[in-house]
Amino acid sequence: MNASFAPTIRHDWTRAEITALFALPFSDLMFQAQSVHRAHFYPNEVQVSTLCSIKTGACPEDCAYCPQSARYDTGLEREKLMAVEKVIEEAKAAKASGATRFCMGAAWRSPKNKDMPYVTTMVQGVKALGLETCMTLGMLDESQAQELAKAGLDYYNHNLDTSPEYYGEIITTRTYQDRLETLSNVRKAGMKVCCGGIVGMGEEESDRAGLLQQLANMPEHPESVPINMLVKVGGTPLENEADLDPFDFIRTIAVARILMPQSHVRLSAGREQMNEQTQAMAFLAGANSIFYGEKLLTTPNPEANKDMQLFKKLGIKPEAYEVHEDESEQEASIVHQLQEAAMDSMFYNAAK
Ligand code: SF4
Repeated sequence: MNASFAPTIRHDWTRAEITALFALPFSDLMFQAQSVHRAHFYPNEVQVSTLCSIKTGACPEDCAYCPQSARYDTGLEREKLMAVEKVIEEAKAAKASGATRFCMGAAWRSPKNKDMPYVTTMVQGVKALGLETCMTLGMLDESQAQELAKAGLDYYNHNLDTSPEYYGEIITTRTYQDRLETLSNVRKAGMKVCCGGIVGMGEEESDRAGLLQQLANMPEHPESVPINMLVKVGGTPLENEADLDPFDFIRTIAVARILMPQSHVRLSAGREQMNEQTQAMAFLAGANSIFYGEKLLTTPNPEANKDMQLFKKLGIKPEAYEVHEDESEQEASIVHQLQEAAMDSMFYNAAK
């Protein structure tokens, strides 16, 4: 980390300032993003996160990108809320594999009152194993957020998805304001926030600027900012959307890094479709977190090996043993396994 370049943390970015960043020559934008990144993070470390789906599909919302919406026929297999025992079992397996954070996601508009005892029991049970907890369950009112925080939930994920202007093109069943209220309830309850959006949904650059402005001007920046690239799923309204130019994606990452210097900017959905060069540029632009699916902890995950090969080629280490203030040790343990795996002869050897 370079302490000599430590920009102040701002919450008053104007749209014009953000637009001007997007308009910089590519090298200048990358240089600025790298400078900010190096002032706040170890530049060659990337955090690894994981997710367990506790309830899949049959969601009543109409998010145009989402295969879990009950309104689109995407062939996704629906699953009911996982039994608490099963979740604890999965969490135990995760712990046995070395994880210290367990993230649980449910495809709901919001949790119903009847669901709350289950999810809070899950949180308590997972917490009792000595794991850090994270959930994404849709909208939360104030008392639900308090209840989850009281049960021991550490992080809550709720994305803004896009700019306020473009939002209506993507979702009609809940408002932007609903989302901001959930985020505010999460903060008020004292939990950490994971919040970002999706690009490549047919939006303009001004919408990407608008999304980042909303995130950067929150009273506190989200601790994690996932920037997703649309995954076009057959059966969803966005299945035939035109591809976003990878440079526009990289610019979005770089601007997010500049606006929110201390947040983990996460490459999430859509990463699998990116080639190694695009991913490398995203890391250069300041992305320092990647997302693995739920299978990582319970089954051999070839994707993990592919990712570790790329890490090795780029000289990137999973963020790990030195735990940052705003992050848990889970990544450290997962990463430990990955590092062990990296010893395996199947890995790329730059010396050969
Ligand atoms: S609320 Fe979540 S699960 Fe439901 S359709 Fe929207 S993105 Fe998908």
